Amino acid sequence: LTFEELNLDDAVQQALKDIGFKTPSPVQELAIPAILDNKDVIACAQTGTGKTAAYLLPIIHRNHLNPHPGIDTLILAPTRELAVQIDQQVDGFSFYTSVSSIAVYGGNDGSVWEQQKNALKQGSPIVIATPGRLIAHLTSAQISFADLKHLILDEADRMLEMGFYDDIVKIINYLPRQRQNILFSATMPSKIRQLADKILFRPLQINI
Ligand code: AMP
Repeated sequence: LTFEELNLDDAVQQALKDIGFKTPSPVQELAIPAILDNKDVIACAQTGTGKTAAYLLPIIHRNHLNPHPGIDTLILAPTRELAVQIDQQVDGFSFYTSVSSIAVYGGNDGSVWEQQKNALKQGSPIVIATPGRLIAHLTSAQISFADLKHLILDEADRMLEMGFYDDIVKIINYLPRQRQNILFSATMPSKIRQLADKILFRPLQINI
């Protein structure tokens, strides 16, 4: 399969060419059509399989073709390092589009807090956040998720290991009920199954 056969827009395909991705990885072949089809997805995929592009490419494609103000997609990730990596990948894949992202994570000073708060209030098509820091913002400022259409949990097993279960549930209570849910995890312990049962609707299951 090619990225063209996955129906990704030329602007996205050009960026992939620049970055040097020639063909989709197995998780990308399976996840991209399902995500474009607006299905819920639960994918068991390790780091190194191309899991990040598997959910970012369809999200960027859609935002490029159908831009709207506000926050369209929320990506929750366990650590600052992963949030930054995802943010950088958005920069690369969206180079020929006007799609942008912001990353919201802890461990920084007050000026960064203010910057994050203002960016969240203003809205960005893609918000990448660690759960604890996002909760802190949600409880201190008016942030609208009224336009949110997609929720992505990346490395969900690590988020639960780090004790973010309650924060994730709390964040979901701020989101519109009608939305697409995508969960990526390297392992599928019963706690992940429980979370999946709670938030996913008839998901496509992908095992890589
Ligand atoms: P990930 O599993 O998302 O952490 O990605 C692992 C690495 O594979 C990253 O450095 C990506 O840039 C790279 N990668 C992802 N998809 C592809 C692809 N289709 N072709 C070549 N490299 C890729």
